[in-house]
Amino acid sequence: MLWVENLDVRRGGTHALRGASLEVRRGEIVALIGANGAGKTTTLATISGLLRPRSGTVRFAAEPGATPIEITSLKAEAVVAAGLSHCPEGRQIFANLSVAENLAIGAFLRRDRDGIAKDIADVHRLFPILKERASVPGDRLSGGEQMMLAIGRALMSRPKLLLLDEPSLGLAPRLVEQIFDILERIRDEGMTVLLVEQNAAMALDIADRAYVLEAGSIVLEGTGRALAEDPNVQRAYLGAA
Ligand code: ATP
Repeated sequence: MLWVENLDVRRGGTHALRGASLEVRRGEIVALIGANGAGKTTTLATISGLLRPRSGTVRFAAEPGATPIEITSLKAEAVVAAGLSHCPEGRQIFANLSVAENLAIGAFLRRDRDGIAKDIADVHRLFPILKERASVPGDRLSGGEQMMLAIGRALMSRPKLLLLDEPSLGLAPRLVEQIFDILERIRDEGMTVLLVEQNAAMALDIADRAYVLEAGSIVLEGTGRALAEDPNVQRAYLGAA
């Protein structure tokens, strides 16, 4: 449902992406792994319309069988309207707004009140703590709760494809496990996920397929399991001796 072809992106003086290509199929969790500075965040930001590539294309088909539309030059808001939702690195939730208000912001393009109420109920089902803490300001949440809120808010635009940047960042292993379990659950309920992670072991464990990004180019791709068993991946990203 997403085709990223030959993206070339410069940021300041840095050549952040050098011909990066990848594909996401409907119903998959796809992981993009790589070292610090490899270009993972840049890839997501370019897909979601926050950065413009020098060259290359991003095409997206929200519905099965639909003709893909080119979203390369769309603004971020139009990309959300097309059915992609980006949960950014560092969560970026609104500190002074309550949990409920943060969730409502995720639905800012929607007018279907009944649908919004149903989706809030769905988010509460996935993350019961967000219901308990509905009136608490964003900055009073723990790191794990903030991550849950960021994912919940991204789901409130009712996306067909969820882009997630480093959901494990700064979280205790138990919480990371909990969040990754939920990602598998939403995938099993029909969502498609493109996941950027430095925690390669966890990401490969839940990924149907994965790509390795090095210095702005994709150097390896395969199923999550095949990459987890690849000696080069083990040495470079999984801490094997
Ligand atoms: P990280 O896990 O640290 O976020 P990453 O794989 O996501 O790493 P990017 O953040 O995409 O990598 O960075 C790719 C390259 O672009 C790096 O060399 C980085 O220094 C550079 N870069 C990132 N943001 C900017 C910026 N705002 N201005 C200039 N260069 C940048």
